Amino acid sequence: MSRPQIAQGTGWAPLLSRGAPDELFDAYVFDLDGTLYLGDELLPGARRLLLALRELGRPVRFLSNNATLDVAQYAAKLARMGLPTREGDVVNTVVTMTRWLLDHAPDAVVFPIAEAPLIRAFEQAGIRMSEDPAEIDIVVASFDRAFDYRKLQIAFDAIWFHGRARLVATNPDRYCPMPGGRGEPDCAAVVAAIEACTGTTCEVNVGKPDPEMLRAALAGLDVDPARTVMVGDRLGTDILLAHAAGTSSALVLTGETRPQDLIGVPDEQLPDLVLERVDQLLPAHLWTELGWSGDEAAPRT
Ligand SMILES: [Mg+2]
Repeated sequence: MSRPQIAQGTGWAPLLSRGAPDELFDAYVFDLDGTLYLGDELLPGARRLLLALRELGRPVRFLSNNATLDVAQYAAKLARMGLPTREGDVVNTVVTMTRWLLDHAPDAVVFPIAEAPLIRAFEQAGIRMSEDPAEIDIVVASFDRAFDYRKLQIAFDAIWFHGRARLVATNPDRYCPMPGGRGEPDCAAVVAAIEACTGTTCEVNVGKPDPEMLRAALAGLDVDPARTVMVGDRLGTDILLAHAAGTSSALVLTGETRPQDLIGVPDEQLPDLVLERVDQLLPAHLWTELGWSGDEAAPRT
């Protein structure tokens, strides 16, 4: 597969004409926010692509850094949008953070700055949690839309005053893309607040681009990573993960990344494919076979 090339002096336009793959991949891993949907709306082409890949017998998995839903909720959300999905086909940082704590700090007392799904997963896994800074061993920072000064004070006291807690995070994302070009401040903002007041540095990120995320998504599938494609909207998480895990990579321009962001990116960090919309992932000869036109703009058509 040829890599996208930026023609010097002509900007980003040539990238967009180098998008379509020639053949199907053996397996497909999709990011969710900004790749398949924004908020509660599927992006154009997402539904027909996913249904076509399943019809063609290609394994499809979903991988998200977003810990504000658990895998059952993600499966239900995809089903509501017309894409029935098994829980086991979704991996997110609720799964990987719970696993990381059980593997690396099974006896730790944890203070989660997180929304209900992550806290519920910790409870179900038997992880001890506390808001008492004197006994907190690990502060887990996450995408938390109820983050406030009280939580920051607890983290500060546990890390700085008591000098005992470590800081780990579910994901490095700055914001979560939303419809209309908007976004919601994500985990990086919580991490930055804690780092700024304590002077500590976050030690662990269990989300993309950690290759463990992709291994978790492909568990149980006998596929060659080189014949697998990771599809996402972010260079620093989705595409970096693909490079780290040895899969092909496809960047969709429906979320965070703008075409001009690709200018000046070192060759080894560029995606293999750049797509204006996600259904361009299907090879052109199959578009003809399936009678697709380029205008599936409405989510459910
Ligand atoms: Mg995304």
